[in-house]
Amino acid sequence: MSKHCIITGCSRGIGKAIAGRLIEDGYRVTGTRRSAPFPEEFQSNSRFNGLTADLAENSDLEDVLGPLLKSGEADVLINNAGIFTDAAIWSDDNQWLDVWDRTQQVNLRAPALLTKWFVNACLEKKKEGIVINIASRAAYRGDTQEYAAYAASKAGLTAFTKSLARNLGKNGIVAYTIAPGFIETDMALESVEVLGREALTRDSAFDEITTPDEVAAIVSFLAKGEVKHMTGSTLHINGGSYMI
Ligand code: NAP
Repeated sequence: MSKHCIITGCSRGIGKAIAGRLIEDGYRVTGTRRSAPFPEEFQSNSRFNGLTADLAENSDLEDVLGPLLKSGEADVLINNAGIFTDAAIWSDDNQWLDVWDRTQQVNLRAPALLTKWFVNACLEKKKEGIVINIASRAAYRGDTQEYAAYAASKAGLTAFTKSLARNLGKNGIVAYTIAPGFIETDMALESVEVLGREALTRDSAFDEITTPDEVAAIVSFLAKGEVKHMTGSTLHINGGSYMI
């Protein structure tokens, strides 16, 4: 039986590229979206199952994703869905905190809870599990002040991933972080509006923005389960713009 991978946010962008690659690799994939339709090629593929859940809604987490993650049927969990919302540090407290809270909910609290359910189900079934969390270069380098909530959420996700990795390897659980710089998706286009197009390649070794397919290639490699001693690592993909 082929591995079963769960990936959040695969209607567009990086998640779409990852889900497509994992289907191509022969895995069964359950993918989620918030509102945009799943790509036609997924809907017509028997190895793909689509679920609709808003990670900002705790009831969606419990009712839609909870049963699947707690069932112990999945082998790989990829927390990809995320939001990138700006709020200037000098904006009013309520507006700034709205963005802060929503960002932590979608980018950190929800993936942490999904991971908790996934890990506990693996432990109960005494089966191996792979967690891959999509963070960001911002977790390491920081972001501009407008996106401080985003950087903080991704730094939190990274530390969470490392904590799982340190403690659960002996139980068959491994966990990795991927930290992309700008990737060519709708999310990067939001940055163009705030920071200008030139900002996307200014620090890069290349003239072009990184494609989602390159991130998908990293996930494909990690999902194979061949490098368990890399557990806790962050794989950086940012066009050489920030080397650690
Ligand atoms: P994207 O093009 O904006 O796509 C976001 C995906 O997440 C969509 O499938 C969207 O679903 C889903 N999503 C958003 N909010 C959600 C919510 N509240 N509940 C459930 N699903 C939700 O973003 P992307 O560029 O592919 O980013 C994917 C991941 O990579 C994110 O975690 C992001 O932080 C990270 N990342 C991206 C970049 C970049 O430059 N693009 C850089 C570093 C890290 P709908 O289509 O239904 O709205």
